Formats: sequence, structure tokens, C-alpha cells
Amino acid sequence: MPKPPAFADVLAARDLLSGYLPATPMWSYPLLDAVAGTTVHVKHENAQPVGAFKVRGGLTLLSGLTPAQRARGLVTYSTGNHAQSLAYACAAFGASCTVVMPETVPEAKARAASALGAEVVLHGPDMGAAQERAEQLAADGDRHLVSPGDTPALLAGVGTLYLELFEARPDLDAVVVPVGSGTGAAAACLVAAELAPDCRVIAVQSSAAPAAHDSWREGVCVRRPNRTTVEGLATGRGFTLPQHVMRSQLADFHLVSDQQIAAAQRLLAGHAHTLAEGAGAAALAAVLARPQEFTGQRVAVVCTGGNASAGDIAALGEGTARDGGVTLDGGAALREGAASDEDPTTDEGAASAPRG
Ligand SMILES: *Cc1c(COP(=O)(O)O)cnc(C)c1O
Repeated sequence: MPKPPAFADVLAARDLLSGYLPATPMWSYPLLDAVAGTTVHVKHENAQPVGAFKVRGGLTLLSGLTPAQRARGLVTYSTGNHAQSLAYACAAFGASCTVVMPETVPEAKARAASALGAEVVLHGPDMGAAQERAEQLAADGDRHLVSPGDTPALLAGVGTLYLELFEARPDLDAVVVPVGSGTGAAAACLVAAELAPDCRVIAVQSSAAPAAHDSWREGVCVRRPNRTTVEGLATGRGFTLPQHVMRSQLADFHLVSDQQIAAAQRLLAGHAHTLAEGAGAAALAAVLARPQEFTGQRVAVVCTGGNASAGDIAALGEGTARDGGVTLDGGAALREGAASDEDPTTDEGAASAPRG
């Protein structure tokens, strides 16, 4: 396993990134707070130049490579935002970038990576297949292979988000972080340990793709069915490095259904004038699903990204029409959802049922 970054690496990443990215805002919204029954601070990584927090990691990684490594070019695999992050960073540092994406990714995410100058290879049904193809391309072309989860520089870079967050709000009781590979949540743990040791770092994943959650609960990296439509959280396996960090430092790990995530996405749109992609709304969904855990606490949720597809945005409208509008009752609807047939356990049952 690669060595986890130290706090000093996160501080160094911030120095580096100050030349590229301004700090992102963090706001709370009275209408949203009324639904949540607590003050929810929303950290706006949807305001990053590629629409997601991962760009912090990409730029940090590229700046730490040798000129020879950059000249060889990079290859990676991604469901979308890691692709854009790496493409953006490679363009900034003059390196070539190839991204293998599953054929199922939203076309807009593939096009966005390609518009940033990456060569996009669509391959296979899922991340597992995309990873194999990326490994092959890297070996054939003697290029630098980047794991989206097991790369210390990516953790150090995304850790700068949590420097900003804890410096702005040193007294938080909890910060909730959506997880795919786990780099974001692991970085939150590393920074919280230094700046806010009493703040609980809580991870959240979709119950339709619980590999990171189950890996953390079982203490060993496992594979799980990956059936979420929330592509930022879509991974079929645990990653060793972030799991190692989370194992000792993460306070808890929740699951929410894709439906609960969509409802939180609608609340952000209606109450926080924020267009989040599904993954960017998952942290809020976790807070709303457990009012007894968060009411009256100082809570931050990370809106990790805003790359909603046209289909996502259209579905937000459908939900609004179906629910009779986003109302102050949205939280209650979400909580009921948690106990109904949208229950995560039901989802998991469905996911493991044989498919005809
Ligand atoms: C990648 C991503 C995540 C998950 O982050 P990891 O570091 O892979 O756990 C969450 N939200 C968005 C928008 C993402 O792009």
C-alpha cells in the first residue's frame, strides 16, 4: 500500500494550489436549515473550475511528478469527475492525458473531459473493465498509470478542502462526506485529526453501490454490486489507501438510497440555489435521513460536485411535480422514504437478487 500523506503534505498542497484555485465558499440557507432542523453549512465544491472537488487532487498530483513522468503522459480510469480533474491538471502542466471511462457514463462527462484535452476511451460496462483497459494502455505506451483511489498526492490535494472548511468553522460537531473511492473522506479524517479532533467525520455512500461502506464495516476491501445511478459514488470495490486511513479515524459510515439522494438534490436546488449532481447531494441526504443524530448540532455537508447531466436536471423537475413542489416538509418526506420501500436494505436485497 502507498504511504498515506502527512498533514504537512496537505499544507504544502495548499501553497501550491493557491496559484491555481481560490478557496470555495461555504454558506448556510435558512430554508434548508428549517428542513434539516439544524444549521447545515454547505461547502461549495460545485464552484470549482471542473465542477468538483477532485481538481484539487489532480493539480497536486501533476505538480509533484517529474518532468520525465509528465512527458510520458498519464492514463487513468474514471466515471467522470476524476477524468475532468486529471485532464484539467494535465493541460495546466502540458502532459498528455488518456482517460478510460465505462460506456455507461453520461455523455456530458465524457465530452467535458475531451474538451479539456484528454483522449477519452469508452470501454466496458463498469469501472472494473475500464481499469483493466487503462492498465493495458499504460503498460503498452509506458505511461504513468493513476489510480483514482490509491494515489497519496490525490488525498493530499483534496485535503485542502478540509483545511478551508475547519479553518472557517473550527467548532463543527460533524462533517459529512460522500464517498466513491474514499479519497475525500480519508483526507477529511487526516485534516480533522489536526484541526478539529472532536468533529465526527461521517462518510456516506449509495446503498446501491456499498463497496466502500462494506469494506469499512468489515475491515477488509471487498467488492460489491455497483448499481447506483449516482456516478460520483459508483465504485464496485474498496480502495486500500483511503480505507486504511478511514479505518482508524472515520466516526461512522451511512448508506442512503438513490431516491433519498435525488430528494436532497431537489432541496439544494429549491432551498440553496445550488445545482448539485447526485453525489454532491448525498451528504445532505445522510443528514436528513437521521434527524435524531444531527438535530441541534453544527454540521457541514460537502457539496462535492455540480456536474448534473441534462437527464438529472429534467428528473429534478419531475420529482418536484410529483411531490407537489419542494416544501418545508421535504425532510419529513425523506425520513419517511428511509422507512418505506426505498429503504437501503430493500435496495440491497434487490441488488443481490438474481436478474432474469
Ligand atoms: C469522486 C466524487 C465523489 C467521491 O469522492 P472519492 O474521493 O472518490 O470518495 C463524490 N462526489 C463527487 C461529485 C465526485 O466527483
